[in-house]
Amino acid sequence: MARKVLVLGEVRDGALRNVSFEAVAAAKKAAEGGEVVGVLIGDSIQSLGNSLIKYGADRVVAVEDEKLKQYTSDGFTQAFMAVVESEKPEGIFLGHTALGKDLSPRIASKLNSGLVSDVTDIEESGGNLVFVRPIYSGKAFEKKIVTDGLIFATIRPNNITPLEKDESRSGEVTSLSAEIKDLRTVIKEVVRKASEGVDLSEAKVIIAGGRGVKSADGFNPLNELAQVLGGAVGASRGACDADYCDYSLQIGQTGKVVTPDLYIACGISGAIQHLAGMSNSKVIVAINKDPEANIFKVADYGIVGDLFEVVPMLTEEFKKL
Ligand code: FAD
Repeated sequence: MARKVLVLGEVRDGALRNVSFEAVAAAKKAAEGGEVVGVLIGDSIQSLGNSLIKYGADRVVAVEDEKLKQYTSDGFTQAFMAVVESEKPEGIFLGHTALGKDLSPRIASKLNSGLVSDVTDIEESGGNLVFVRPIYSGKAFEKKIVTDGLIFATIRPNNITPLEKDESRSGEVTSLSAEIKDLRTVIKEVVRKASEGVDLSEAKVIIAGGRGVKSADGFNPLNELAQVLGGAVGASRGACDADYCDYSLQIGQTGKVVTPDLYIACGISGAIQHLAGMSNSKVIVAINKDPEANIFKVADYGIVGDLFEVVPMLTEEFKKL
């Protein structure tokens, strides 16, 4: 059945996040030959519309307002609902990001709709769209079919491959005016923590350190390897609790959930709460002194050894490539 599907293009620092293109690819599947309409919300963001189109959206609707410069639950809900009311979609896709996790249930409740969250794949079976999502901290997957009403889903970053960029694609980018009023939250200022390099939740390569790094300086060899591989550095809660690094790097059940192409765990034992955040990585390499460490159970490649010897060796080898 051909459907009209809306996809939110998520903007950060003036650029579209990768998950937006992944959501377009997912929406394309769900549209089943229908129309994929990109949605942009913000201030001066209309120019990003063409990128969404080149990655597969048919056209884009932009809601621009000074009050939408920063994300607020109220403001974005009002803007998105204005698009929904004007477009009357049969499907809605957002990234399963901090923004998507906040916005999607609000929209779903306003539309009295269900929501399939944290989708990692979409299959087709017997004429139905089947949404695959991890449950029990990634230990199992469940498959869901939407039998009635709106198809509304959030897409976990780094799981669905975006469509190839097609420079020849063109489509309309139109603006929609929406009354953004009675905001209960107004962002006065955003104070960023100094963070360098690649965004952890979208990184293709992650080098993660655990308590085995032994100190804040112990992260230095991991930073060097990450730099050579163009990756990001993450951490176990053990390393964060020990004050070796900031909690913004924590991966796991109470930290970030990541799905990079390559995850290198250095000095991490592999507690179940850590595995919950990384076990769906495509290739896992574990470096640990203890051959019995639990992390080896989920690793594709295991190196039993001292991370302070192994990591610099890897860095040197990768530099040669
Ligand atoms: P450890 O378990 O101490 O492991 C350190 C490892 O380093 C060991 O395996 C050791 O053999 C190895 N090692 C030591 N020196 C070297 C060396 N020189 N070279 C190589 N290897 C070396 N944890 C998370 O990570 N993320 C979460 O989100 C999270 N949420 C939690 C939520 C709850 C409710 C609870 C109760 C716990 C949570 N935890 C979480 C904590 C989790 O249970 C573990 O305590 C934590 O993951 C352990 O961190 P670690 O592997 O770095 O440390």
